[in-house]
Amino acid sequence: MAKRKFKAESQKLLDMVINSIYSQREVFLRELISNASDAIDKIYYKALTDDSLTFDQSSYYIKLIPNKDKRTLTVIDTGIGMTKEELENNLGVIAKSGSHTFKSENEIKDGHDIIGQFGVGFYAAFMVADKVTVLTKSIDSEEGYKWVSQGSDGYTITPIEREEVGTEIILEIKENEDEENYDEFLDEFKLKQIVKKYSDFIRYPIKMDVTESKLKEGTEDEYEDVIEEQTLNTMVPIWKKNKSELTDEDYQNFYQEKHYGFDQPLRHIHINVDGTVRYNAILFIPEQAPFNYYSREYEKGLELYSNGVLIMEKCADLLPDYFSFVKGMVDSEDLSLNISREMLQHDRQLKIIAKNIHKKIKQQLLSLLRDDREKYETFFKAFGQQIKFGVYSDFGQHKEELQDLLLFYSSKEKKLVTLEEYVSHMPEDQKYIYYASGDSNERIEKLPQTEIVADKGYEILYFTDEIDEFAIKMLMKYQEKEFRSVSSGDLGIEEDNKEEEKEETESHNELFKAMKEVLGDKVKDVRASKRLKSHPVVLSADGEISLEMEKIINAMPD
Ligand code: ADP
Ligand code: MG
Repeated sequence: MAKRKFKAESQKLLDMVINSIYSQREVFLRELISNASDAIDKIYYKALTDDSLTFDQSSYYIKLIPNKDKRTLTVIDTGIGMTKEELENNLGVIAKSGSHTFKSENEIKDGHDIIGQFGVGFYAAFMVADKVTVLTKSIDSEEGYKWVSQGSDGYTITPIEREEVGTEIILEIKENEDEENYDEFLDEFKLKQIVKKYSDFIRYPIKMDVTESKLKEGTEDEYEDVIEEQTLNTMVPIWKKNKSELTDEDYQNFYQEKHYGFDQPLRHIHINVDGTVRYNAILFIPEQAPFNYYSREYEKGLELYSNGVLIMEKCADLLPDYFSFVKGMVDSEDLSLNISREMLQHDRQLKIIAKNIHKKIKQQLLSLLRDDREKYETFFKAFGQQIKFGVYSDFGQHKEELQDLLLFYSSKEKKLVTLEEYVSHMPEDQKYIYYASGDSNERIEKLPQTEIVADKGYEILYFTDEIDEFAIKMLMKYQEKEFRSVSSGDLGIEEDNKEEEKEETESHNELFKAMKEVLGDKVKDVRASKRLKSHPVVLSADGEISLEMEKIINAMPD
């Protein structure tokens, strides 16, 4: 039996495309500009193999013309144009992508890469327009054509007189309704913003005549409206440039332009990978934590671009929580996108990129620590807590990865030290890595518990963050050395005193018994200690949990 083709109810399909694919209306412009860019790319490819054609980059552009009076927005391109057949196939058949066919027919790889693939983007125009007119002339045709549609009721194609090769798309922008306002799509300022947001790195200039109020020549306070053609997009993305061409200032400008933060980033990381998954990335380690960083409102993530077109503003999957402070962007040609191009089809490529990025961030932090201690301390002041949370969270899965990034205040060095530094300072006979917890360094310094350890000449790490001790409990050891609180019952330094302590306790049995009775539940035991020098008593903890941790745990809501 002959197989029959599925028929789609095109009206319904179109409705679906228009109303349910995209979460934001403004992406219609991204889609039209991407198509225009593809159309110019196609001439470029044609010129590669066709000697009769030359590709002079400067004569190719995209132009936006908003007209408030006529309520139209026109998108012009000097691209390859469409023949009558192409109009029918590509704009008459939903989900038919001429660009996809073009790519597979021409085996295009590297560099210039065409964006289109699903054959639905064009119809996004109907999210903002009642009627769309396309005027076009193909490089392969003598005649021009006009395609007109009001959406679901179909389209017409008629021949027209047209000199120049290329395409002009005229959108008749919808009238405002109750809550819905479409005026912004006729507004120069808003259009500029949309272009900057999604299409800043399209390779060809996106132009618009912009009206600006300027000081009248020869006057001091008289202004006049001047119309000036401006290029709205940056075109060459900084991440595609050669690292050697770029200065620190270029990266800083990019950071500010992209509004990643108001501070000066401490470091940038520029990555170009040409491996199984190709991608470019520019990442920044900020200097200051954003005001909402340690709150639920803070959203981590990197900008994700596919071929220079913005796909996602905050791709959270690219950053683990413990590096959530990193800002920046990733651009890849190898992402498989879903139809709205807002999400990814498979996350395999993304996972590879994410893994790669984690490694680079860690390397960069370690190199900052090694080469510029002062900057690293600035970093740690802002984001150290997050690193400690990272050590503690997910049952310590990332502790190995993060342990060398930790800094703690040292009793001996009187400054922040790494665990590696601590261990390298340890005398032969020192068994443990000692720490003491408290509200501030000053208060810890006065703790009677620190005395015996300090007296032995051992270094003590001061824990003043609530998370410190939890993180260290998760670490347990560093380079085979266990962590030990100075308030622990067993400090590993007083073996020779054990007997004496026992005798002393027995000989004052009556006194200690009386003390225990008075203190009741508050203590488990009272005994003599050789630990004390200038202080008469010390509280010490026997179990796994120190006194400080006990305080925090007791303060937690049940
Ligand atoms: P996609 O870009 O994913 O292919 P679209 O719906 O955006 O899907 O466009 C469908 C097809 O229409 C494109 O693949 C291309 O062949 C053709 N097309 C759209 N806009 C233009 C244009 N400005 N110039 C030339 N061809 C175009
Ligand atoms: Mg498209």
